[in-house]
Amino acid sequence: MRSIAQHLPDDLRACLDPDAPGIRLLASSWYPARLAHLILDALSEGLTEQQIQTMSRDATRDIVKRGTSSIYGFVLRRLITPEMYALSVARLWRQWHDTGDREVRVTSATTAQSKVLRWGGHHPVLCTITIETMCAVFEAMGCKSVTWQRTACVARGAKECATLLEWK
Ligand SMILES: [Zn+2]
Repeated sequence: MRSIAQHLPDDLRACLDPDAPGIRLLASSWYPARLAHLILDALSEGLTEQQIQTMSRDATRDIVKRGTSSIYGFVLRRLITPEMYALSVARLWRQWHDTGDREVRVTSATTAQSKVLRWGGHHPVLCTITIETMCAVFEAMGCKSVTWQRTACVARGAKECATLLEWK
């Protein structure tokens, strides 16, 4: 983290605490997308798409697991369904992102389609992290063998990012 911080422009470096273990962003709860992109570029440099996916998968499973080993996890498993998640995802998205609109549609008992539209802060790694976070939430809701397929991405010239999700 320190080495990433040293190479940042001053205004962005001020957002980071280089002495913190791992990535920690300083108190102000929002930080510029440009900073997130620089960190993601540094983290993913030299990695293949498969390695980025594995990294995103491990990180999001870890975070969701920590967040769900509580009463919140019980609620998530027992009371929240993919349909309810689909209804609240746009609001959840806006809590974390200042650009982009998120849509999730449950298309059958075991499939859903996710889209991110007008996502000015798009980064290919962030796009994969978004997908893996969604999969981790579906797993926490009790969906088994969750798999996904990216059907469109602005990084590949599409107008929006779209993913098909399938589970058992
Ligand atoms: Zn994308």
